[in-house]
Amino acid sequence: MRLTDYSSFYSRFVTSVYFTDEAAGSPALARAIERLRDVPFKRVKGKDDIPPADRKRETLFLTTGRGKTVTACPGSKGHLCCNYLTIDLYGGCPIGCTYCILRSYLNFAPVTVNVDTGAVCREIERIAAADPGRPLRLGTGETGDSLFFDPLFDLSRDLVERCALFPNVSLELKTKTDFVDHLLGIERKGGAVIAFSLNPQVLIDSEEPFANGLDDRLAAAGRALAAGYRVAFHFDPVIRVPGWDDMYGAVADRLAAFPAERVAWISLGTVRYPKELLGRLGERPYLFDEFFPSRDGKFRYLQPVRVSMYRSLADRIAQAVDAPVYMCMESPAVWRRVFGNPPSKIESLCGIFIPTM
Ligand code: SF4
Repeated sequence: MRLTDYSSFYSRFVTSVYFTDEAAGSPALARAIERLRDVPFKRVKGKDDIPPADRKRETLFLTTGRGKTVTACPGSKGHLCCNYLTIDLYGGCPIGCTYCILRSYLNFAPVTVNVDTGAVCREIERIAAADPGRPLRLGTGETGDSLFFDPLFDLSRDLVERCALFPNVSLELKTKTDFVDHLLGIERKGGAVIAFSLNPQVLIDSEEPFANGLDDRLAAAGRALAAGYRVAFHFDPVIRVPGWDDMYGAVADRLAAFPAERVAWISLGTVRYPKELLGRLGERPYLFDEFFPSRDGKFRYLQPVRVSMYRSLADRIAQAVDAPVYMCMESPAVWRRVFGNPPSKIESLCGIFIPTM
């Protein structure tokens, strides 16, 4: 899908927009007003002024980030973390994946948009300049989809351009959309990486209601690549449905279309959930499997099951493309059983699993 008429596309997802005094003069707000012609915009002192009837997912709340705008990924107790830095640009997401972990900790329904990219850029600059020899990975896709609303606000552009000044920074924009076209013309892309979460189409259909399809995502990855970006792929969550290995293997095969040296990384993660999320997952078929609590309190497949899934998928990926592959939030034991070593001893991962802040 190519976004041509913003107003008609976003009218399904946005019925009102509230903005704070601090956000009032921002170019991002001006762009959104121009692109959402039929949506009411109202100024408020803060999120508490949003009327109860509008405290829902179809409301956008535009503000500026208060406090830290770039934070270390909290990781997970007993699991190896890739030391990623997260940028809270978009908080909340209308894509509605059934397994989305945001449901367990975001208790404010409107999607919050931090329009103050200047503050974010200054913080990135401070961290990047503090140790120019240390590779940094940071991204906006932890608290929402990096690109779902980005054509409206055009916030990622500022980050891409600012990060391009620092050769040690890889900025990752992670998405389940194909909304990359507004970013293709940026001249200095530096180490920016456009990343696509991948699942077999049958699972996209059943578990990711408002995401783009697999073909769209891979086509967008091709456009990003042709425009000069590096790309990345995330197989996360991998869900053990009947025939999962053939289905995921077929997706992995399609990565052969991408030159290995332009694939920054590929991550793997089996489906997992904290117990707070269970009540909100509903009765999804994939929950009728065996899950056990791990040391971090999250429920995962049994370790031998995970190891076998990771081995099988990592092998299939390796046949398609020789790019760095890592596991998200896995235990040292699983690392040893899948890759023979912890990430610190795998050469291709040394730039990914590094201490950050
Ligand atoms: S795209 Fe990501 S943030 Fe959005 S609903 Fe799906 S899992 Fe959650």
